[in-house]
Amino acid sequence: MTDNSFFNKISDSIKYELSKRKIIKVEISARHVHLSQSDLEILFGKGYSLTPKRDLSQPGQYLSEERVKLVGLKSEMNNIAILGPVRKNTQVELSISDARALGIKNITINESGQLDGAGDITIIGKNGSIEAKNSVIVAKRHIHLREKDALEWNLYNGQIVKVKVYGIRSLIFDEVVVRVSDKFMPAMHIDFDEANACGLLSQGYGEIIL
Ligand SMILES: [Zn+2]
Repeated sequence: MTDNSFFNKISDSIKYELSKRKIIKVEISARHVHLSQSDLEILFGKGYSLTPKRDLSQPGQYLSEERVKLVGLKSEMNNIAILGPVRKNTQVELSISDARALGIKNITINESGQLDGAGDITIIGKNGSIEAKNSVIVAKRHIHLREKDALEWNLYNGQIVKVKVYGIRSLIFDEVVVRVSDKFMPAMHIDFDEANACGLLSQGYGEIIL
């Protein structure tokens, strides 16, 4: 018997079920820095501007060609990525493992841009170095959504949700903050400690389960 209608029906119903689920791409953020223009100029020279190397998933954000070294109380790390464009404040985003290895005193988990209680580190560039006080955070895991995604999924800016990341080491993350802006593209961002915990080696997929 070669009647495919049964299978077609199943396939349609699966598609329908899947369409109702809040499935999102999961991307891993490696350790990186954002620099203010004045810090960039101390590290690389007067009037310097970053050289974009590759676009990131969030519109306008890019990985730059330039690299820096981080020096903490316990160790140092070379070849650290700088993400552009420049920002108002210099911010260093590490995993907890990185922060421990470097010897950061105040390890604090914050949303990007919030530097309350942030740690200190020395940043070294080609032309100079800075003592970046109050700059080091471990980024709180988060989801970027556009207004229309948030509307469709009935989620709001600042909401805390759970996300099940799929895979052989599947894991449900709680305390995931939803961030909504039309400047974003839909993606969940976790760091390498979190990616390792759920067995992700590159990007993967998760489902918002509330
Ligand atoms: Zn992000």
